[in-house]
Amino acid sequence: MWKIPLFDLNYDDQELKAVSDVLKNKWLTAGEKTAAFEDKFGRYLGGSVHCCAVSSGTAALHLALLSRDIGPGDEVIISGLTFVADLNVVVLTGARPVLADIKSLDDWNIDPRAIKIKITDKTKAVIVVHYAGWPCDMDEIRQLCKSNNLLLIEDAAHAPGATYKDLKCGTIGDIGCFSFFSNKNLSTGEGGMVTASAPELIRKIKLMRSHGMTSMTIDRHHGRAISYDVVLPGLNYRIDEIKSALGIVQLKKLDQANEKRGKIVAAYIKHLEKIKDVKIPWKNPAGDRISSWHIFPILLKKENLRIQFMDALKFKGIQTSIHYPAMNDFNYYKGIMNQPVDTADEVSRKMVTLPLFPGMTGDDVDMICNEIKHFFMNR
Ligand SMILES: *Cc1c(COP(=O)(O)O)cnc(C)c1O
Repeated sequence: MWKIPLFDLNYDDQELKAVSDVLKNKWLTAGEKTAAFEDKFGRYLGGSVHCCAVSSGTAALHLALLSRDIGPGDEVIISGLTFVADLNVVVLTGARPVLADIKSLDDWNIDPRAIKIKITDKTKAVIVVHYAGWPCDMDEIRQLCKSNNLLLIEDAAHAPGATYKDLKCGTIGDIGCFSFFSNKNLSTGEGGMVTASAPELIRKIKLMRSHGMTSMTIDRHHGRAISYDVVLPGLNYRIDEIKSALGIVQLKKLDQANEKRGKIVAAYIKHLEKIKDVKIPWKNPAGDRISSWHIFPILLKKENLRIQFMDALKFKGIQTSIHYPAMNDFNYYKGIMNQPVDTADEVSRKMVTLPLFPGMTGDDVDMICNEIKHFFMNR
């Protein structure tokens, strides 16, 4: 239907083979492939990172909060510009979500100064999101969390492979949460990963992933256990072998795919920086970090043009999106949140996400940018 979709899978015969191998092995739920995926992902991130693969990025975030007993009476600071999962998981624990504004129209990541203002004696944790794949100001944020004894969770759903001062995103805070949803840089359909350098934390999260049970079905299958104990209340947030096998293949492709994304973004910027009606964030990023180029967002200087702009591109077969609508405006949250975050709200009203995926060609970028030029020429 789309001439250029917002996203396209970076799949080939390797993924096909990985899945058929799992089917031939006849073991579907978390087992050897899952353990291997966790191991390889941890080694990819570097340092002494421990990993727990889960059913989604949202499950990863939920487990991160639950593992530190965050709940009623607590406050958790999140970015004013993020996917609603960050907000939902906080609310589901019973804690109060507190929105902190983003830095500026040039850097859409959470502002350390805004975090500082929002800290109270009830604050227990901060969830930062490396928006679009651009690492947040982690030194400042880590320092703030340390001096206020706060759990620092990185929502690294956009940022597998992104680096901050040579550290991989997801390894800088206390807990990293990744998503392998189909349109992410590493795609398994559904899936996620919790990462932490503290082994006891990952041990606890692995228990919580599977009902708090001390053995898994695979252990009983292999005769390593005949029964199990339950040592804490858990959930079923397990990933399965098919997705883990896909994850292993996708992880091998990740660095190259991210590089391709970076080149496509550079081509976009070359075209679009001449258009005065369009603002591009992170045009002069700090030299100490490398993006994973998850999405390519632009800001339309005139907000009342967004629907026409998206319609004009749609008419030409180009898919666009919005990352993200303002959380204060969602029906459920409208009455209960009411926490204006001026810069994030402005971005929510004016931003558009353009297509970005490793298989895009220079011609695709040319075509999209020509349509954009054309759109503004006629206004
Ligand atoms: C995708 C995403 C999530 C949720 O991940 P799922 O795997 O879809 O549950 C959370 N936060 C951000 C920023 C995301 O982009």
